[in-house]
Amino acid sequence: MISFHQVNKHYGNFHVLRNIDLHINQGEVVVVIGPSGSGKSTMVRCINRLETVTSGELVVDNVQVNDKNTDINQLRRNIGMVFQHFNLYPHKTVLENITLAPVKVLGVSQREADETALYYLEKVGIPEKADNYPTQLSGGQQQRVAIARGLAMRPKIMLFDEPTSALDPETIGEVLDVMKKLAQEGMTMVVVTHEMGFAREVADRIVFMDQGRILEEATPEQFFANPSEERARLFLSRIL
Ligand code: ADP
Ligand code: MG
Repeated sequence: MISFHQVNKHYGNFHVLRNIDLHINQGEVVVVIGPSGSGKSTMVRCINRLETVTSGELVVDNVQVNDKNTDINQLRRNIGMVFQHFNLYPHKTVLENITLAPVKVLGVSQREADETALYYLEKVGIPEKADNYPTQLSGGQQQRVAIARGLAMRPKIMLFDEPTSALDPETIGEVLDVMKKLAQEGMTMVVVTHEMGFAREVADRIVFMDQGRILEEATPEQFFANPSEERARLFLSRIL
């Protein structure tokens, strides 16, 4: 579903991604971990071309992401993204936040979009918040709305970039539970997170990055029991 072949990226003179090779199958859950500044966000943002690569090849759902003929809007329709900050529209209700893109971009009727939105609000556990405004919700609830908003576009891939990093500790679990459910339903997911419990329990594969490189790829069992890279060991000793 997602294939990086020798991908490099520079920000000016700064070499942020170095020879990235990564292949993610449909239905796979890959958790990306690594120190701050190691290029995790940049790598994930390349997948929906929020960042362009400098060299190498990136193929997502059989589409060459960086080909000039690629319809970027078409590509992005298949990829949901959830960020640390939820970026909900403050002056729109929860339901309106979720239905906006399906109506505008996919051209579905408002009625159908409302039904779909309610379905996903049920799924993330807060159907009763449909008519509330984002500020009336806790951080965890807002993030669940952001996930429902992503799902309402019926994407093939969901990208999560530190989705719980801005949340109060007591609401982190409810967001991780929703993500876990999504993983169990077979969604292809790339998740940048520092939540090692989630990584251990939900990931099919852990990717450890440092200084723009993938230093290690392993199952959670292998990675947490016995990381082969010294940098990964050091990282884990600090975080766990
Ligand atoms: P991570 O998500 O692992 O913390 P990032 O992908 O955000 O890392 O950033 C990797 C490196 O690239 C950092 O050193 C960061 O300062 C740098 N960087 C990120 N975005 C830009 C940008 N738009 N321009 C220049 N440097 C950037
Ligand atoms: Mg980041």
